[in-house]
Amino acid sequence: MKELNLLTKTQNTWCPGCYNFVILSAVEEALRELIRKKEIRKENIVAVTGIGCHGKIFDYLNVNGFYGLHGRVIPAAVGIKIGNPRLTVIGFGGDGDTFAEGIAHFLHACNTNPDITMVVHDNQVFALTTGQMTPTTEKEYKGPSSPEGKKTNPINPIALALASGASFVARTSVFQKDHLKDILIKAIKHRGFSFVDILQPCITFHNTSSYLKERIYDLEEKNHNPRDFKKAFNRALEWNYSLDEKSSIPIGIFWQEQRKTFEEDLCQNQKPWYLFKRNLNYKKLISLLR
Ligand code: SF4
Repeated sequence: MKELNLLTKTQNTWCPGCYNFVILSAVEEALRELIRKKEIRKENIVAVTGIGCHGKIFDYLNVNGFYGLHGRVIPAAVGIKIGNPRLTVIGFGGDGDTFAEGIAHFLHACNTNPDITMVVHDNQVFALTTGQMTPTTEKEYKGPSSPEGKKTNPINPIALALASGASFVARTSVFQKDHLKDILIKAIKHRGFSFVDILQPCITFHNTSSYLKERIYDLEEKNHNPRDFKKAFNRALEWNYSLDEKSSIPIGIFWQEQRKTFEEDLCQNQKPWYLFKRNLNYKKLISLLR
């Protein structure tokens, strides 16, 4: 049987050696595996992207897609999911995209639990626009928008997602491609809002590769229980996204629970809202507008 290919022939414009290539390859392999095992259908996949280097993944993946506005990946993804709950909706955002412009959407998605996957290419910088700081950039970072050094501490998206009620919270990295693929598969299969933060240094504007490589460890090696919220939170606090010499950086699933999704709440266990016949009296409605 012919092997399914989910890549397009579009010319790739990422910098040579960019770690986004690893993410693209892991996403493609994860989707292929899920399709082969009949867990999802190719025609039902929708990739939603924002603006940034990550967004180009839209051009390179041969699946349905929606190129969203900066910071608006999540509302577009949720809208698509509500419109047709049978779809497998995967959002791709950058750390600037998701945690600066899109932070309110992120918090509400964690809280309301729509059945979508949100993948963040977290290079801790606005890479497409040449290296401005983002909310996850470390303190003291000097870049085009912070020539004297960033004055504030980074936010911790793992702790933020946990505190906001996300039902699946994971971190992985481009240095462990098999791990990355495995986490993506689990996130896509999870029913509810799954958040995956991928550590992906920008080799051109913010190359933290050696710092990360030396400190990453797998939560599974520590027998972490992803059903234990307190332990998940403590693990999340082990690294605050600064470049502190003493930190170690856990990767893996911090937390996973099953609870009602946003769509289920919306339908209140009846048939989906879009199948209801609406008895609108258009004549009366128009007369009210006059
Ligand atoms: Fe990759 Fe950075 Fe180049 Fe963007 S600027 S393509 S993130 S290496």
